[in-house]
Amino acid sequence: MRLKNTIPKWYKNSYRRNLVDMHISACNPEFLAEFDPQEYFQCLKTARIQSPMIYTHSHVGYCNWASESGEMHPGFHGKDKIGELIDLCNADKMDVIAYYSLIYNNWVYDKYPLWRMLDVDGNPSRSEVYMNMEDKDALMMSGLGRYGLICPNSYGYRDFLKQQFSELCSVYSFKGLFLDMTFWPMICYCDNCRNRYREETGLELPETIDWTDPDWIRFQEAREIWLSEFAAFASGELKRIKPDIDIEHQFSTATHPWTFGVRAAISENSDYTGGDLYGGFEQQSFICKLYYGITKNQPFEYMTSRCDPSLFDHTTTKSVEMLKLHAYLTYAHHGAFLAIDAIDPRGTLNRNFYETLGNVFSETSIFEKYYSGFMKSDIAIYFSLASKMDIENGSPKRAKIIGTQKYPHIESSLGAATAFRKMHIPYSVVTDNNIAKISSYDLIVLSNAAVLQDEEAAAILNFVRCGGKLYISGTASEKLCRELMGISFEGVTREEVTYMSPTDAGQEYFGKMYDRNSPMTVFGSQHVIRNHDDNQVLATITLPYTDPADLSVFASIHSNPPGIYTQNPAIILASYGKGKVIWASAAFEESNQFEHKKVFVSLIQMLLDKPMLVTSSAPTQVEFTVFLDEDKSVMQIHCVNIQEQFPMIPMNCYEAAVRTDKTVTSVKCLPEQKEIEFTQDGTYVSFAVDSLDIFRMFEVKYNV
Ligand SMILES: [Zn+2]
Repeated sequence: MRLKNTIPKWYKNSYRRNLVDMHISACNPEFLAEFDPQEYFQCLKTARIQSPMIYTHSHVGYCNWASESGEMHPGFHGKDKIGELIDLCNADKMDVIAYYSLIYNNWVYDKYPLWRMLDVDGNPSRSEVYMNMEDKDALMMSGLGRYGLICPNSYGYRDFLKQQFSELCSVYSFKGLFLDMTFWPMICYCDNCRNRYREETGLELPETIDWTDPDWIRFQEAREIWLSEFAAFASGELKRIKPDIDIEHQFSTATHPWTFGVRAAISENSDYTGGDLYGGFEQQSFICKLYYGITKNQPFEYMTSRCDPSLFDHTTTKSVEMLKLHAYLTYAHHGAFLAIDAIDPRGTLNRNFYETLGNVFSETSIFEKYYSGFMKSDIAIYFSLASKMDIENGSPKRAKIIGTQKYPHIESSLGAATAFRKMHIPYSVVTDNNIAKISSYDLIVLSNAAVLQDEEAAAILNFVRCGGKLYISGTASEKLCRELMGISFEGVTREEVTYMSPTDAGQEYFGKMYDRNSPMTVFGSQHVIRNHDDNQVLATITLPYTDPADLSVFASIHSNPPGIYTQNPAIILASYGKGKVIWASAAFEESNQFEHKKVFVSLIQMLLDKPMLVTSSAPTQVEFTVFLDEDKSVMQIHCVNIQEQFPMIPMNCYEAAVRTDKTVTSVKCLPEQKEIEFTQDGTYVSFAVDSLDIFRMFEVKYNV
């Protein structure tokens, strides 16, 4: 009889991780000359790192081992210093994760020109056209200029990768492998892509971005499928060579625009999900929930740099407070935190940073043994990985995009997330690969989700039919809206500054700030619909006296006051099956104005129709997350002080109340295990939080 392998995976208890960014060129003989494996290892020890991610290869394309298929970095002069480092880490029982760069590879770019990505005009990423462009920041963000980009549809490159993986797995002993850059930095028109598309569809690649053109949509789907298939190829090949290896693909791209071509399959081909992000703490809070929901195995991994604000600044290091907040915010979601350092080109590390990181981790590690159970929330934001484009405002243009782009779905989803966080409402994030989980929530938010697959729409319909609550706003699937509410779309307002006027039925959700005389401003157009008689109208569309686009006429010179009151619905409440739906003609939850957030949350509270999971008198900076461990009969409540300005202001002395129908026997502060006073009123267990610098954790124990 074969016994099942019950040894826990290394990553299960690995919360402290590190990566040293080493994309160093060989244009100077000093580069990497001072790399010292012993010193690097001592830095890892000082920082209390459990799992070091170590560069075996970089975007520059050199291998750090004596590769036969590639070339060892000349700075190592043939010595396998990375091998020495890996041996030191393995001997110390650290869990070594190897780093390898896909697609970004300057060495391959130079040696094998036929494998390069080409833009729609036939230019590769390091062509003179890009080298001479003035907007260097936009180029860097797009992987152009410095970076040699290789097309994953180049089958020669795939054969090369097979050799590289085979060498790598035979040379080094490691437990995990991080595959970076599994995305499309550009829209590729190389011969390999052209031929593959022709073989698969019989068509030529379309060259105009036009979301009303089925040809363009078909090409985008092909790009997503090709990339997913490439991720499966890389993971599959590595697992064939080394079956026990755990793979992680770069998934910071989960919320990146459509051009990256990234769908859930990139995460599905990873044993656990993670990525490096630099968008601040609001973004991190959302991403941690997205990763928590989508990862195949916990913990997920959140990575960010020691460099402030990102790796673009080599010498400015984040403060201890910032590093602690990154770590604690990750831990409030029971994720693993990976701190990214950037090596000096000579190959040296700054010991001061590792002492700082060691101080951070020695404080945070005390909490690790308490992480258990599952994240609990009544509400989930549905994040559609297919809706990462601006369908309504993008006029057709040539398929060449340089620089970052925003898209409405992420902006308004983050807007909803911020509203929840500021009002202490725990929430989760669901995507198409874990859509089956939506039945475990009471309410789903679907904000500016322009493109839903049939399976997604069917799951959402079924969710509402069975009693779920849905808030749906802005650009939405007309088919879904027609089925749910019987409404049809007739266009959008020409005016791009508009208003929502509460009706008598809707007034209570608009508070004292807004009424018919002073309606709520929407900085954008609103969708005009033909309504169904059974739907209750909570607000109507009001337009400004004059069209803001026409500068020749105005009512008030600085603003566009409301003046034309229409009967077109702006917010409706509808029933479907056993469930209910609120539809809003614009995703006003995106607004940074707190009054807008309050209207959004009051509508959500009405729709949810039950006491919130958490209520608190805490300032809006305090985020709550709740985990439930039914095996231990405990709830864990985490409080995180989220501020974007430093030094931070402590948030002291507030009440926290968590909904429970169980009889609570104790409330303890962790890690001290100190019991604190609490009260229970049949709905909530309440206790006082005396102080909060960055993070507090409480354990509520109850009788079964
Ligand atoms: Zn290509």
